[in-house]
Amino acid sequence: MRKNIVAGNWKMNKTLQEGVELATELRDLLSNVKPNCEVVIGVPFTHLVTVSALLHGSVIAVAAENCADKASGAYTGEVSAAMVKSTGAEYCIIGHSERRLYYGETYAILKEKTLLALNNGLKPIFCIGELKEEREAGCQNDVVKAQLEGSLFNLTEDEFTQIALAYEPVWAIGTGLTATSDQAQAMHAFIRQLIAEKYGQPTADNTSILYGGSCNAGNAKELFSKPDVDGGLIGGASLKSQEFKAIIDAF
Ligand code: PEP
Repeated sequence: MRKNIVAGNWKMNKTLQEGVELATELRDLLSNVKPNCEVVIGVPFTHLVTVSALLHGSVIAVAAENCADKASGAYTGEVSAAMVKSTGAEYCIIGHSERRLYYGETYAILKEKTLLALNNGLKPIFCIGELKEEREAGCQNDVVKAQLEGSLFNLTEDEFTQIALAYEPVWAIGTGLTATSDQAQAMHAFIRQLIAEKYGQPTADNTSILYGGSCNAGNAKELFSKPDVDGGLIGGASLKSQEFKAIIDAF
């Protein structure tokens, strides 16, 4: 059966020293605990080697927040999936709405990033979700369907089974406007139905679909109680060890 996952996304926060402090706090908080979910923290590229080494042997896995859409070569400033893998990271967040909105990441670019992540043994956490005006226009399902078809539904079934999805309504990210648990459930069920139509029910049933968007210690339990919500991708609340631990404890 599918895994429950609580994944943090630090975004562009924390210097290396601050990140080490936060990762150490979290490691220590979870040192005598067996969480009922997989725990992942997404950290900036500059932190990957150090934080991966620090968390080696703990229950916490490490994710990059991005990877390049090219394998290697003359792409100054980019970091390849192979480089990410070589740091000890296991996961890679791909397609975050901030990457789509501020860095022009298209369906085609995200398709390449996903393939490169998979080919290098990284597990993608692939983000999808609609803008506020798209929800207001009632076309959130069409948007999410197009995102899946545009970047992921080229994958073989074997490849697709390596993916975790994160449904993140853009209007809920960093705004305090959490989707209701019913809104999250409705979208997650719709996503699972699309996966079933494409890859069959067993693959759909085995795909972890996380919710992201102002998820915190106060609302995680309610969100995670929904049958198709398999955890969360957590931004702001992952920057405080006690609060992130409380979200993990919601399972
Ligand atoms: C995110 O960055 O993926 C996110 C969900 O952020 P926040 O939890 O702060 O809304």
